[in-house]
Amino acid sequence: MLDQAAVTLPERRLLIHGAWTDAASGKSFSTINPATEEIITRVAEAGAADIDAAVRSARRALEEGPWRLMTGAQRGRLLRRLADLIERDRENLVTLEAIDAGKPLAATRRQDLPAAIDCLEYYAGWADKIAGEIVPARADALTYVTRQPVGVVAAIVPWNFPLMNAVWKIAPALACGCTVVLKPAELTPLSALRLGELALEAGLPPGVLNIVPGFGTVAGQALIEHPEVDKISFTGSPQVGKHIMATAAQQCKHVTLELGGKSPNLIFEDADLDAAAHAAGSGIFFNAGQVCSAGSRILVHESRHDEFVDRLVGRARRLKLGNPFDPETSMGPLISATQQERVLAHIERGREGGVRIASGGRAHGEKGYFIEPTVLADADNAMSVAQEEIFGPVATVIPFKDDAQAIRMANDSRYSLAAGLWTRDVTRAHRVAQALRAGTVWINTFGPTDTRLPWGGLGGDSGVGRDLGRTALDNYTEQKAVWLHLGKVA
Ligand code: NAP
Ligand code: MG
Repeated sequence: MLDQAAVTLPERRLLIHGAWTDAASGKSFSTINPATEEIITRVAEAGAADIDAAVRSARRALEEGPWRLMTGAQRGRLLRRLADLIERDRENLVTLEAIDAGKPLAATRRQDLPAAIDCLEYYAGWADKIAGEIVPARADALTYVTRQPVGVVAAIVPWNFPLMNAVWKIAPALACGCTVVLKPAELTPLSALRLGELALEAGLPPGVLNIVPGFGTVAGQALIEHPEVDKISFTGSPQVGKHIMATAAQQCKHVTLELGGKSPNLIFEDADLDAAAHAAGSGIFFNAGQVCSAGSRILVHESRHDEFVDRLVGRARRLKLGNPFDPETSMGPLISATQQERVLAHIERGREGGVRIASGGRAHGEKGYFIEPTVLADADNAMSVAQEEIFGPVATVIPFKDDAQAIRMANDSRYSLAAGLWTRDVTRAHRVAQALRAGTVWINTFGPTDTRLPWGGLGGDSGVGRDLGRTALDNYTEQKAVWLHLGKVA
């Protein structure tokens, strides 16, 4: 096992126009290991001048560089090469996520890395298949529709799946021929910067992918305001998402917003309770609950509520918190002291509101931002712990009386990202799936995602638009109608 406290890395710089550069201001910031609270290294901090340079570089690469002349097949080959390099350096990237984000090695090996590689390979396959169509609108004209890149894309991502979320934006954008300026989260810049090195090694021309770590309110703000950015693709909090939409409105930029969730997981009286409790545990405790689609609101038929809570508590107690490098560890720390305090405050509000804490509820350990896996039972859907996104390892369990009440409660939320349901009745499964207001519905499972399937919310605090799937190609292309006058047809 690696001694995580001993891991320090060289200082990192910004990737602008194919070169590693210091910030124009000379400033840098520390990135911290959330399991030990120790500084890993310092990273150049992008300011407005660096963002301007990165966006101009992306614009130049779009309009003048070799990128513009490449065929879709050539772009696809570059993406495939990048996927291969990630595969080659898998362990290095897994280690970076463990140090910088506190993610247990096994989980990143199982989830983030395969998902990032699969995403690049999937969009590599699309790169030479993005076609327009001939639409025979008129007899006196040849009319057709082409698709062209939307332009310079600003990709802004959070800290919970740093590499995977970056790839979810970059892969389809590059497949479509766009150029990208990526701002990783200030808390987790390291895997994105490593991705930049691999992109250069893969042969991506200068300016096609620029990577500019920095603070949201400085670097992020400069990026969303920049007039040369055509599209903002954002994953993060509802609060920042709304601010981005309002800012983008000033220039009518395209936006895709993948925001928060308070996903309901409905467990009917005929459910396989063992399977449901197991999946519900993973659904809320995976990545220490720092998952936009975490199954944080578990609605259970009243006849099985107590039995279910017992099983979930058993699952929570078996989790091993600790060093992300330890193969035995099943749950790492939260990302920061602020996040830890936020989650504890949510639990406290729940306690004051009368919820029963069936297990957990406290910080864990001497060092690092750990929180015990927590189960809140006998809750009410109107409580703050049922309505607010906690973004930590906290399950809120709510009893229901019948299907209609379960559906009503599930949909009584500002969020609409995902939902799960457990039943052995196939008709009920489809009926409830139809009724749930969610971009994804899982039946007798909870949490899987796949590159081929669209991912996103139905508005509100879960945001608008879709990542992944064929749909994401629409995020990064514009349609153009062309008329060729044929004259009078004889
Ligand atoms: P956040 O505070 O919104 O940060 C997300 C990103 O936005 C970070 O890179 C942040 O930079 C940047 N940012 C902050 N202020 C900005 C501004 N004024 N202009 C431009 N960029 C700005 O979100 P978070 O707390 O890191 O992440 C947690 C949230 O993300 C949760 O609500 C979660 O549900 C959501 N999430 C959603 C999905 C999904 O697929 N729907 C996936 C993962 C997470 P700094 O970090 O450097 O400040
Ligand atoms: Mg960090």
